[in-house]
Amino acid sequence: MTNLLLASTENIDNQNSQYTPLNDPEIASVVAHINEEHLDELLGFLSAFTSLSTTELDLVDAQITDIYAEGIAIQTFLKSSEIQPAGAHNTSLDDQTFFIAFAAPISQLDDLQAQYILLKQRADKKLGKKTIKLTKQVFDVQNSYRVSKNMLRLELSMPSLNSDTPLINTAQLSNAKGATSSMSVPTNEAGYAYLFDLEHNAMTDALMTDSTDGNKASDYKTNDSEKENVRPARPHCYYTLRKAWQADNGIRAWVDVFLHGNTPGGNWAATLQAGETVVTKREFPEKVEHLRDGQAVLIVDETSMPTAARLLELWNNPTPPLVICVTQDAGDQSYFDTVKMRSCLNCDTENSSNNYFTVLPIVTNQPNSGAELATLIDRELGDYLTNNPLKIDKVWGALEANTAKALRPLLKDRLELSRTDVVVKVYWRHD
Ligand SMILES: Cc1cc2nc3c(=O)[nH]c(=O)nc-3n(C[C@H](O)[C@H](O)[C@H](O)COP(=O)(O)OP(=O)(O)OC[C@H]3O[C@@H](n4cnc5c(N)ncnc54)[C@H](O)[C@@H]3O)c2cc1C
Repeated sequence: MTNLLLASTENIDNQNSQYTPLNDPEIASVVAHINEEHLDELLGFLSAFTSLSTTELDLVDAQITDIYAEGIAIQTFLKSSEIQPAGAHNTSLDDQTFFIAFAAPISQLDDLQAQYILLKQRADKKLGKKTIKLTKQVFDVQNSYRVSKNMLRLELSMPSLNSDTPLINTAQLSNAKGATSSMSVPTNEAGYAYLFDLEHNAMTDALMTDSTDGNKASDYKTNDSEKENVRPARPHCYYTLRKAWQADNGIRAWVDVFLHGNTPGGNWAATLQAGETVVTKREFPEKVEHLRDGQAVLIVDETSMPTAARLLELWNNPTPPLVICVTQDAGDQSYFDTVKMRSCLNCDTENSSNNYFTVLPIVTNQPNSGAELATLIDRELGDYLTNNPLKIDKVWGALEANTAKALRPLLKDRLELSRTDVVVKVYWRHD
């Protein structure tokens, strides 16, 4: 049954309408990507913009069926019956299509991201959730050094006017280089990610080289073909705020970058010098709320070790987690050696082991990608649970795309957990 419901405030007439197809050959792969990686967002849209209740949404999975100029069509279908509560079968939720309208129509697929982000922001706001922000932030580089064999720590700072607000520091002022930034750095949040503008530093470097060569900076700025030449292979890259704290003279922050050869992100980080600025243009919170209770397992590779380290420092759950740490190089396993877990309020103080997490190391001697890595992680977890009988209630992990895709069903089967308790994010893609 396809019953097209209109879910936007602009279109509330329940009638079938003709939406404008985008006719772009890329649509199928964009739809497949959203369906694979962003199910929770689609359910969020349904929750915020349709009359479906939380109980009904718990019974369904959702998928985008098409993207039109005016919005997206989301279809619901019942989850497989074996994981439904007894007697919960509700066929009216099966094969329903809901239309979620964009704030403004798009004319090409390139405009989708902006409208999708607006939908997400509106939905999160309605649901009282933290959301993605498109703000520009400017940090000063203070220092950089290795914290494990291939992990480079960037020490950043941001001057602040006010230290009264411990969780979020917000102010509007100029940094050391005179750039204006909107300051808002979460000091008490794990996995908060920033999209770093790699082009900012490539352009600044080119500008500096140009002026030391005797060319006028203004000449450079107007020359588009020269700008093209200095553009890095990728314009931006996500890195996590490993930790941020309020110091006497402003906010200090760490960002830990995994160096894995000659790549745009790694080269950007490795060549940064104290006194330079770095610019971020987008930021978003990580999905970790489900880790507040129960026995959790965190599954990380080098790119998600920073999130796990901050999670441990801010651990807010009576039970310490198991950490599965997969690295290519044994020399990066030491990353967790200096991480101290915050002792939890309800911890059994008689049992001091409750204040410690266990790391299950996996060293692969090759880049950590692909479905075979998922099989290895699942097998190692199975072996660990055979020797240490634990009932795992929650999973958080972030890995390479194909590993994450293959690992989710393996974990759901092995641990018999629901969709909401198994969060395995994609942090990078193997070429
Ligand atoms: C929300 C989020 C938070 C993140 N936080 C961090 C963080 O705190 N620290 C961090 O280091 N990374 C983090 N990442 C991952 C980082 O954005 C990617 O690894 C990114 O691809 C690195 O860019 P690059 O220029 O080094 O490589 P790319 O330009 O992506 O790729 C160049 C080559 O390197 C390979 N490659 C890319 N990443 C890896 C890898 N991890 N291991 C092996 N080979 C790789 C690719 O297959 C390709 O062949 C995060 C990603 C997301 C989405």
